[in-house]
Amino acid sequence: MTDRAYQICTNCIMDTSDTTLQFDGRGWCQYCCNYHSNIKPNWHPDERGLKEIMPVIEKIKAEGKDREHDCVIGISGGLDSSYVTYVAKEKFGLRPLMFHCDTGWNSDLGVSNIQKMIEGLHLDLVTEVVNWEEMKDLQRAYFLSQVSFADTPQDLALFSAMYNFAANNGFKYVITGGNNSTECVRESLEWTYFSTDMVQVRDIHSKFGTRPLKTFPICDIMKYRIYYRWVKGTQVIKLLDHVPYIKKDAIAELSEKFGWQPYPQKHYESRFTRFYESYWTPKKFGYDKRRAYFSSEILTGQMTRDEALERVSKPELDEETMAHEFEYVATKLGWTVAEFEEIFRGPNKTFRDYRNNLFLITLGARIFNFLGLDNRIFR
Ligand SMILES: [Zn+2]
Repeated sequence: MTDRAYQICTNCIMDTSDTTLQFDGRGWCQYCCNYHSNIKPNWHPDERGLKEIMPVIEKIKAEGKDREHDCVIGISGGLDSSYVTYVAKEKFGLRPLMFHCDTGWNSDLGVSNIQKMIEGLHLDLVTEVVNWEEMKDLQRAYFLSQVSFADTPQDLALFSAMYNFAANNGFKYVITGGNNSTECVRESLEWTYFSTDMVQVRDIHSKFGTRPLKTFPICDIMKYRIYYRWVKGTQVIKLLDHVPYIKKDAIAELSEKFGWQPYPQKHYESRFTRFYESYWTPKKFGYDKRRAYFSSEILTGQMTRDEALERVSKPELDEETMAHEFEYVATKLGWTVAEFEEIFRGPNKTFRDYRNNLFLITLGARIFNFLGLDNRIFR
């Protein structure tokens, strides 16, 4: 926390709850400036984008013609991953093998949406179930460490399981639902530190964990960026950036075609993430991740600033549901409500309080920015 005066961007709704966010003379934040100078000019979700991606699609098809599947798509049941699956299969004629990582926190709606997509598109699905005792141990360690990004174990598992699976099974192409349309505002390190910085994960786990991580899916960011990308040749394709991707249209299309059902909020396919983002971070750490999600939508013309302000003025879940979820999460992680409350009241820490590999990761991210491989601002 700093004692700087409160300020909110005059264009989006990012504010000084992101304590190091800078504003220009017009009162625009760094995300808005970056969007207009770096993202928008390089993003073509239209004919031009299609023309750019078609040679890649043809290459995936040609290289995979003797295989049962030509690419892998990770599916969480959320909108981005469901929609990209539909686009890959129906619009581009790819033959993806679907991969799902079950961390033990799937919401019922998430599971049902995955089923609908798999059955509706006649796809094959591989599910990796993370060992629950290890998952629980790492999640408990993150809460005990008092850092804000307690969703790290889940993020790490989802990311690692997917890329390890692809590399171990000879897949060169991974299609992801990553996109500018709903994610052009990338949260600061203060809000969400790298889940794949294994130096940090291991430090936190060695201090607060109680059992070894024997089978937990792990893929260090360096292994991913260097070994998988340049040695194994794994390519990540953000297909949704090459086609029109408007949230409400995508929801309508998936609902009509597959009976897919929308969530009230991004990332609510996981019951843990729902609790973490609607309760833990706003109430304990004073920031609301919806500010980043809605700001992305404001920048890409899918929500007005007034609508966004109205939404963040009240919590996503009512008090009763939050209390219920607090108890659910506490119990599932092996704590009483009183014990979990004590952790909640403990002093907050940041990623700087634990060992980390930030220097090298920052260098990597700056190189990606420089090469134009990622135009989102890194801060
Ligand atoms: Zn802004």
